[in-house]
Amino acid sequence: MRKSKYTGTWAVFDEDYKRGFDDVFRRYAENGIKNVMYGGIALIFDIHKEYYIDTCIDPYTEIEYYKEVGDVFGTKEILIESDFNEVNSIADKYGLSLQLVITPGVSEPIVAKHPSTAVVDIYGNKSPHWMCPSNPDVQQYFFGRIEDILRRYKIGEVELDVICLDFYDPQVVPDWVLPELYPLRQLAIRNCFCKHCIEKAKKAGLNLAKIESEIKVLNDEARSLKYEQFKKWDDTIRGVFDIIRFVLNHPMLIDWLRFRASVVEDFVFDIKNVIKKINSDILLSSDLVSPSFSWTLGQIYSEQPRLTDITKLMLYHKRIGSFEVKPLRRIKSAIPQIKDEELMRQYYRLKGFSGPLTFDEFEREGIDAENIYYEVKKAKVEVGPDYPIVAGLVGDPPATAKDVKEAVKMAYKGGADGYMLHQWYGNTPIENIEAFGEQLRELGEING
Ligand SMILES: [Zn+2]
Repeated sequence: MRKSKYTGTWAVFDEDYKRGFDDVFRRYAENGIKNVMYGGIALIFDIHKEYYIDTCIDPYTEIEYYKEVGDVFGTKEILIESDFNEVNSIADKYGLSLQLVITPGVSEPIVAKHPSTAVVDIYGNKSPHWMCPSNPDVQQYFFGRIEDILRRYKIGEVELDVICLDFYDPQVVPDWVLPELYPLRQLAIRNCFCKHCIEKAKKAGLNLAKIESEIKVLNDEARSLKYEQFKKWDDTIRGVFDIIRFVLNHPMLIDWLRFRASVVEDFVFDIKNVIKKINSDILLSSDLVSPSFSWTLGQIYSEQPRLTDITKLMLYHKRIGSFEVKPLRRIKSAIPQIKDEELMRQYYRLKGFSGPLTFDEFEREGIDAENIYYEVKKAKVEVGPDYPIVAGLVGDPPATAKDVKEAVKMAYKGGADGYMLHQWYGNTPIENIEAFGEQLRELGEING
């Protein structure tokens, strides 16, 4: 019999609590799911002050905030009041494990309370929610948080979510994000210029003055919201070779993109050391966006085998449109002459995706399932056969059971080494969880 592949789900604690953990965990087990990742689970664990002496960040900041305010995925009061060991022992009865998901990227309450931790753009603007991975206070806070938890609880895997670098979370796209033209925003990305990144870049030998001036010129263009300006880039960057032509004229942008990735990589490398020193059997995984554009966030697949034990590739093909349409709609409201189709075609060309050509359909239906196949395959080719890529697939609505099955099949075809079902947007129908299990069983990816 073949060994079952890695399986898991990103689930919503409050929903599972209300449905009853016994019922929920039994269903997960029946559908081959082994690992349960609850959004915000880090909030369930107590704070022990001795782990936070090297950081200015108040370790109670997030717990206090999420108890009262919450985030796009709801408040976390039930979660915060619950007992991890109690829930984990129910999971254990069904052969499941609760794992630790931690989000070292974005935190609105931490940045609000400690503005010095924010990512800074080239104009000196501070991100309202992104913490810079180069910042020693951010680093020490997360090293402390992880150690505080791992020293006291039996946990088999630490998963890093939003482990990247940018100014705003592309899977949320807050209202304060202003429109900018593609692909300049991505190629001449203007963060992070905090004092720690500047110092690190200088040490790495980057020609920062030249990089800054190029980025400024290109960003002025990206923010010049006129139809002719859109057409200039849309008509001249037609294919991949055009991007090569562009970067040959701006070679230092590659140094900058590479440097940004090193900021993230160095942080992950240090987290790995913290974890493995506590117990080398604890797995470290991290969540990456699709390889076609992960480099814009400082995530480079080929580097991952050196940094973590598992990479989870998140491509929620039915949901991606609901957040990625937002920047496109903002460009269109700034430049009303642009047709949806023009922006959609440009988006697909740049990302290498296929899908519908209107904003409404893109928002409602997302992109074609075949993109999962391509992205998983790209990831596998980059990391090599011996390092696992786990495909993170949509479970939440509007995905139907049929969509879930299609997603599993495409990930399998791409060579996925494991599968995660995403439920964090809420209200995942039970049929979708069952479809996930049925399809994995049919493909022989899980036993029983
Ligand atoms: Zn920085």
